[in-house]
Amino acid sequence: MIRNFLHRIFNRTEISRISAPRHPADNLLCIIPHTRHGITHDHIHSSALKVTARLQEAGFAAYIVGGAVRDLLLGLKPKDFDVATDATPEEVRGLFRRSRIIGRRFRLVHVICGIETIEVSTFRGSTDTGECDGGGASSHTDEHGQLTRDNVFGSQEEDAVRRDFTINALFYDPARREIRDYLGGYEDIQAKCLRMIGDPVSRYREDPVRMLRAIRFSAKLDIRIEAGTAAPIPVLGELLQHIPPSRLFDEVLKLLLSGHALACIRELRSHNLHHDLLPMLDAALADASGERFIVFALEDTDARMREEKPVSPGFLFAILLWHAVRSEWQARQTAGEKPALALHQAIDRVLAAQRKRLAVPRRYDAVMQEIWIMQPRFLMRSGGKPFRLLEHPRFRAAYDFMRLRCAGGEADPELGTWWEIFQHAEPDQREAMLIRDVVPGKRKRNRGRRKPTAGTVTPEGEGMPPDPDPVAGLP
Ligand code: ATP
Ligand code: MG
Repeated sequence: MIRNFLHRIFNRTEISRISAPRHPADNLLCIIPHTRHGITHDHIHSSALKVTARLQEAGFAAYIVGGAVRDLLLGLKPKDFDVATDATPEEVRGLFRRSRIIGRRFRLVHVICGIETIEVSTFRGSTDTGECDGGGASSHTDEHGQLTRDNVFGSQEEDAVRRDFTINALFYDPARREIRDYLGGYEDIQAKCLRMIGDPVSRYREDPVRMLRAIRFSAKLDIRIEAGTAAPIPVLGELLQHIPPSRLFDEVLKLLLSGHALACIRELRSHNLHHDLLPMLDAALADASGERFIVFALEDTDARMREEKPVSPGFLFAILLWHAVRSEWQARQTAGEKPALALHQAIDRVLAAQRKRLAVPRRYDAVMQEIWIMQPRFLMRSGGKPFRLLEHPRFRAAYDFMRLRCAGGEADPELGTWWEIFQHAEPDQREAMLIRDVVPGKRKRNRGRRKPTAGTVTPEGEGMPPDPDPVAGLP
């Protein structure tokens, strides 16, 4: 009790100590009542309500904050619920039996409620990055302007200011059913406008990932990026190089798994950011069949996400890099390399080139390689080969990939239909479906003499009889 009382007193003094806003925006607190915002608690997870209620009962300030408030106002189902409080991590930890403090640099608390985890963070103070006077490195930023220190506790207002966009800086108090808005985020939501808090150039320099977040929110929430917020993005893209590869990859994956991957890729391109992430995308989209394939494939991915079906990151990158693999494979065969070897070399080269920009973690290499290497094997529909392909542990992914190639017009749809029927057919029917050699018996005699084509090569480089119904598309 005494501790809570002291905390309240201390906290009040903290708030009253807030100096005049250091920020160019007018940091005037605006309280939006329930009658205006109309948020109902039906879409708020009960765990988030329990956590805020428990903190408030103990005398602390507690709000649902960030993306959840934004999504509720936009009529979307929030993905997760974050809570912001004036309690320290230790105080939060003391209130919830099933909780743990995480993070070294900035400590926050994970409160576990059933299968839900609610992230509770203490109001963070602003770090003086010099963003009001036009930027430049400060004691808390490195030579690129990137934030190196972000671990000071502060007031609610300061916590709002250090967030990225105004629409992400709203605090919802479930007890009073009111929203606290220091930066005009509520109006921006009504106007469907994504606006950076503070000077966009300094804020992107502080954390270049904010550029990717801007792209994702704009595509996912179907809102426009305010002109001043959008303008620096095409010129600051190279700052992404300074982001640790694992964080960069996670952010790009969030774009691709947002349920709006196609829109995100288009936004990335329109802001010229793709050069720094997926440099091979230009060539893929410049080619008509390459573009169709990517559009079909990403539309399919988005539909799967909406249906809450799993989407594998390896599969997604196999899609985005396929055109580059195909082109390189073709060039190598034209130069006289054997098809199977050419395909392996093409894959190595494309993956190495991609790694220099956005490093796809090596754990996904095997999935991508297998999907690509299996593509020519779908052309082999005689003897035991289709049976062996069917048994491959990665058959399903490779098959889905091949169907997308058919849908995109890069492979003959007949091939897709054949495999669709073949995989579900009874053993007798499968035998009857096999496509025999055009001239029976010729295969053996010709073996080794005929120069194999791309469509007649297994990953092992073994020669295959020609398919009597040649399939368009593969190089
Ligand atoms: P979603 O969860 O739908 O991806 P979100 O806005 O909730 O969107 P989170 O990554 O969960 O995104 O972050 C929670 C909140 O933390 C954000 O709403 C924002 O206020 C703040 N935040 C996250 N990343 C940054 C950042 N890079 N710079 C400043 N504030 C950030
Ligand atoms: Mg979130």
